[in-house]
Amino acid sequence: MMKIDRAHFVPPGGLPYDDAPQSIALPLCCMQYRFGATISAPHMHGYCLSLLADYLKPGMHVLDVGSGSGYLTAVFSVMVGETGKAVGVEHIPELVDRSREAIKRGPAGKLLDNGHLEIHVGDGKQGWPDAAPYDAIHVGAAAAELPQALVDQLKPGGRMDLVIINKLPDGSIEKKNEMGVRYVPLV
Ligand code: SAH
Repeated sequence: MMKIDRAHFVPPGGLPYDDAPQSIALPLCCMQYRFGATISAPHMHGYCLSLLADYLKPGMHVLDVGSGSGYLTAVFSVMVGETGKAVGVEHIPELVDRSREAIKRGPAGKLLDNGHLEIHVGDGKQGWPDAAPYDAIHVGAAAAELPQALVDQLKPGGRMDLVIINKLPDGSIEKKNEMGVRYVPLV
């Protein structure tokens, strides 16, 4: 995380070094997507990275679903390095463009240039089969159900960190993780 400067990934007016999520929402053109996107707080990024650290060794493959600002995808990429592959999938094209620009300003930029880091526009629920199977899959949005395509694309022995889904006795769905985070929904 010390290698990737959050200031490149937070829009002007935000507080990149505060330990709180920052809006990366777009103007009216993108309101069709309904839900605001945020770059997660640094403690949340650190927590996800520690959960996945054993699955982010040099040479490994990692998928970032709902890559948003691209910050975490960039960190994943420097961890798996030039022998590995990091893939981000984000459904808002403008965020994908912005994340690529931000990544180019730091040390993950050369990984983007040489194809070891890719950010794609798409529905993250479908994963990204081209670089499967993945050692690590991070889902940066809260899913109501476990997307089967992601499970299929996980390497045996690999790990996916998802917000925990509890189905309560009355059938309602509770979404949480150990940190009690509230994520933007995976839609
Ligand atoms: N880890 C990211 C989190 C961004 S917020 C960061 O720290 O920047 C979650 C993101 O998930 C949003 O950008 C939202 O647009 C995206 N998202 C929600 N549903 C999605 C889907 N089905 N496919 C791809 N991206 C999705």
